[in-house]
Amino acid sequence: MSTERIEHYINGHISSGDSSRHQDVTNPATGQVTGRVVLAQRSDVDSAVDAASKAFPAWADTPPIRRARVLFRFLELLNAHKDDLARAITLEHGKVFDDAQGEVARGIDIVEFACGVPQLLKGDFTEQVSTGIDNWTVRQPLGVVAGITPFNFPVMVPMWMFPLAIATGNTFILKPSPTDPSASLMIADLLEQAGLPDGVFNVVQGDKEAVDALLEHPDVKALSFVGSTPIANYIYETGAHFGKRVQALGGAKNHMVVMPDANLDKAVDALIGAAYGSAGERCMAISVAVLVGDVGDELVPRLAERARTLQVSNGLDGKAEMGPIVSAAAHQRIIGYIEQGVSEGAKLVVDGRDFDSSTTGEGCADGFWMGGTLFDHVSPEMTIYREEIFGPVLVCVRVPDVATAIQLINDHEFGNGVSCFTESGSVAREFGRRIQVGMVGINVPIPVPMAWHGFGGWKRSLFGDTHAYGEEGVRFYTKQKSIMQRWSDSIVGGAEFVMPTAK
Ligand code: NAD
Repeated sequence: MSTERIEHYINGHISSGDSSRHQDVTNPATGQVTGRVVLAQRSDVDSAVDAASKAFPAWADTPPIRRARVLFRFLELLNAHKDDLARAITLEHGKVFDDAQGEVARGIDIVEFACGVPQLLKGDFTEQVSTGIDNWTVRQPLGVVAGITPFNFPVMVPMWMFPLAIATGNTFILKPSPTDPSASLMIADLLEQAGLPDGVFNVVQGDKEAVDALLEHPDVKALSFVGSTPIANYIYETGAHFGKRVQALGGAKNHMVVMPDANLDKAVDALIGAAYGSAGERCMAISVAVLVGDVGDELVPRLAERARTLQVSNGLDGKAEMGPIVSAAAHQRIIGYIEQGVSEGAKLVVDGRDFDSSTTGEGCADGFWMGGTLFDHVSPEMTIYREEIFGPVLVCVRVPDVATAIQLINDHEFGNGVSCFTESGSVAREFGRRIQVGMVGINVPIPVPMAWHGFGGWKRSLFGDTHAYGEEGVRFYTKQKSIMQRWSDSIVGGAEFVMPTAK
């Protein structure tokens, strides 16, 4: 089988760069190596920053409506090629094809939002703040900004960043995950076809070495990061040390509370889809079911039945509900968590390690397969409750009432997403008000906000002040300037030695 070489995209050209380091890219469904991605060294990052710095003045001076027109053309191209992108995601990540299509669609939403940038950049103006003086506010781009993204959304997460970054007049360097890097070059190609000037969007493939070079480079003004919490923390601290603006989104442990009055059919569907969709490799996956009162007695057997009968197969097979785990290492890590759950005394109701992989499709014998796992009677001190497993493992915690459920969730280290299934308006209202989590769903299992609302968790799920995309994204990628102006015919008197006040 031929292996494709996956390189950088710098200043409008594919570039092999200076480094001789590589990493294999694997199709998780087959276990076959399909590509080799180059891993940048510092001089490759320097080349990308240099190209982006040179492109910045002209791009920042381009009227926002003309920048938006490039994005409109990009949007048309994205729509024409969305299935190609989805297929590339499935081949390197493993998620099922229609889920990959959903990922691309949610990325396209952000591009649509960014097309409205002339309106988003409209400033505030106050006439006559003092006699003959007007005061207004503008938002201007930062310069070269970078995005460092995780493996689990190789199209959508970069699109949380670069559409608004470039729409607002910055130039951008994407450092995608080396696990599934191909989509980044497809995006670069579509932007080039859309007429984006060379150097405005660049891709540097790589690992920690590339990230550290971006963190330390004096000409990189801001960094957006999405990935695991320890790395998010590192990016935030190091970025601040080097004087950069940083937003760093981290890991999660998302709970779904099921109240006794909930519609249980809908709650079972929601839990199964949100726990096992994308093999649990979503930062908004539900990994903890909080079962209130005696709801667990009815719910757990129903969840078990559904977990055992999940259709797990090659993501390109139209029947698949769940694909493989992304890598052999992740597969091993998840198995380690299941073993730990058993040894710490949780009740293993469905064991995904027992999964028979002979049904996964032709050529898939060496893929990274497992079935859905379900634990019951999990308690808050257990490792499988505290840590992010990032796999198809759902743990059930039983609590007596909604107040205990809220306290449990508020005590957790992470605060990305949460959901509550109930038919009670007052429970829903109280839950929404009291919960210490950034994104809340009421009878919605995966409450990923729409493009104009912004995405972000609380606690150790986000380091920084602004959420991704939406108006928060516009603020992150721009700095505010206030201009106060008068003309000489309105200047009265001579030198003033007191603090100026409105006259
Ligand atoms: P990761 O933290 O391993 O990698 C993320 C990025 O950081 C990649 O580009 C990677 O190359 C780089 N990186 C890895 N190790 C590094 C190091 N030591 N120094 C500098 N850079 C490094 O995350 P992942 O496994 O690719 O993605 C899964 C994680 O991302 C999960 O924890 C998931 O919850 C999280 N995630 C969070 C969100 C969110 O919005 N909060 C969204 C998607 C994924």
